[in-house]
Amino acid sequence: MNFHVLTLFPEMIQAGLETSILGRALEKGFISLEAVNIRDYTTNKHKKVDDYTYGGGAGMLMQAQPVYDAYQAVKSKTATGKSRVIYVTPQGAVFDQQKAEELAREEDLVFLCGHYEGIDERVLEEIVTDYLSIGDYVLTGGELPAMVMIDAISRLVPGVLNNNESAEFESFQDGLLEYPQYSRPE
Ligand code: SAM
Repeated sequence: MNFHVLTLFPEMIQAGLETSILGRALEKGFISLEAVNIRDYTTNKHKKVDDYTYGGGAGMLMQAQPVYDAYQAVKSKTATGKSRVIYVTPQGAVFDQQKAEELAREEDLVFLCGHYEGIDERVLEEIVTDYLSIGDYVLTGGELPAMVMIDAISRLVPGVLNNNESAEFESFQDGLLEYPQYSRPE
């Protein structure tokens, strides 16, 4: 499974995912992670990636051009050139274990992280295939939601968990919650 994350804060994605179980899975090649800085693709000479919303309203919006060009660069690296593109947004359907299982079957997944007021709708219409939320609250950016989804999906990729960390008997498998567990001493 190859994860590609379009973000203004690639260091946040790397710091959040390159440790512990996922760090080991990355090292062993069971998953790969590419965090692409959208700012690297702006044609603005001041490296600007946002602007006021057309017609007024509070806050800034990420512009279409850098997002579109960053996506084109990533698309050319995917196996089919037709990977699903997930925009993480509070307006999307709520991500759950069933969705994680569905997405874990893909070869490449592209995550698009918004910031500020979000992203110009025109580029979303052009490139996004799935709109997913991690819950009914608003965060400052899409990096944490993307990391939450990547973590849940990665655990289901063969080889990522070893036998001691099996995903087989866990909450939401068969729609049930796991039983209480204890360690030693008795
Ligand atoms: N104006 C947007 C709205 O009212 O729906 C909220 C924008 S939010 C401040 C900035 C970015 O954070 C969004 O573009 C999205 O990528 C991300 N985000 C915030 N909350 C989220 C959530 N619950 N699930 C997924 N992404 C979220």
